[in-house]
Amino acid sequence: MRERLPRRRLAPGLALAAGLVSAVALMGILFSGRAATEAPGTPAPSSTPTQKGLTTMPDQPKGGAYRQLTPEEERVIVHKGTEPPFTGEYDDHFAPGVYTCRRCGAMLYRSQDKFRSGCGWPAFDDEIPGAVKSVPDKDGRRTEILCSHCGAHLGHVFTGERLTPKDTRHCVNSISMTFIPEEKVKYGRAIFAGGCFWGVEYWLQQQPGVVAVTSGYTGGTKENPTYEEVCAHTTGHLEAVEVLYDPIRVSYEQLAKLFFEIHDPTQADGQGPDRGPQYLSAIFYADDAQKEVAEKLIADLKARGMKVVTQVRPAGKFWPAEEYHQDYYFKKRGTPYCHARRKLW
Ligand SMILES: [Zn+2]
Repeated sequence: MRERLPRRRLAPGLALAAGLVSAVALMGILFSGRAATEAPGTPAPSSTPTQKGLTTMPDQPKGGAYRQLTPEEERVIVHKGTEPPFTGEYDDHFAPGVYTCRRCGAMLYRSQDKFRSGCGWPAFDDEIPGAVKSVPDKDGRRTEILCSHCGAHLGHVFTGERLTPKDTRHCVNSISMTFIPEEKVKYGRAIFAGGCFWGVEYWLQQQPGVVAVTSGYTGGTKENPTYEEVCAHTTGHLEAVEVLYDPIRVSYEQLAKLFFEIHDPTQADGQGPDRGPQYLSAIFYADDAQKEVAEKLIADLKARGMKVVTQVRPAGKFWPAEEYHQDYYFKKRGTPYCHARRKLW
């Protein structure tokens, strides 16, 4: 399995939908490993707090059903056809936003990863983590790429052309995708506190469908708290992680179950070796639906005899932690001392 990229940051173009979430909230959050100057807009300070929001992608059928395809869409997406070069609507399209699967709606590519290849089809040198599956093409030469969620044919991926520093070209049929402008891209958002945020972040970054994870502080009183203030117990904040995810590929309940599996929700004085009120177990819910899921899972665990002490609290401001706390285990190329996963469901 290839190494997963850290998913802490989002491009400014991927801000949550206006009206539900302050667009400013995510302006400063960029994918790691990609220079801020490659993305449009001016990043806000990293301490900008985010507001709540839980959404689904627009114009998708309810209940996970796939969108009805036109005959031409079906020829390409189902029967692995190819649209003629220089004819697709996204070949010369460079607006900020996200390209989604035209059949299932899963997020596939970010506009920041699109480049001019001159080949006649949209080209990207990276994918949203885990969103695209590569398989050997039946022609025996090329590598076919599919939507990892629904298996829709997207096109082919090529390496060794040296067109960009990543030396990768996803050559995608326009007709396999639907572009969502940045102001309409809608992510699910969850906030979990389960001890040292390095370990919680590490595990949530592994979950397919998670687009970005940020370590930070929430639940306290002071604006823009520092790590030292939180450790000194002067602000009431907990170490927490904010998760942005594609609701097509992963549900809030799946994430909440994972959260319970990667920490001990019965420990009342902290988490593992980390003791103190900033390490307590808590779910910060964005809406009643998230609250119901959290309470249902806690009731399920209590029914099994676990003395769960996880707090269920309304989400407030989330303050991203200092840069050196972000993607900690990815940077260190290590694994958490503080968190391990055990299956509960
Ligand atoms: Zn799909």
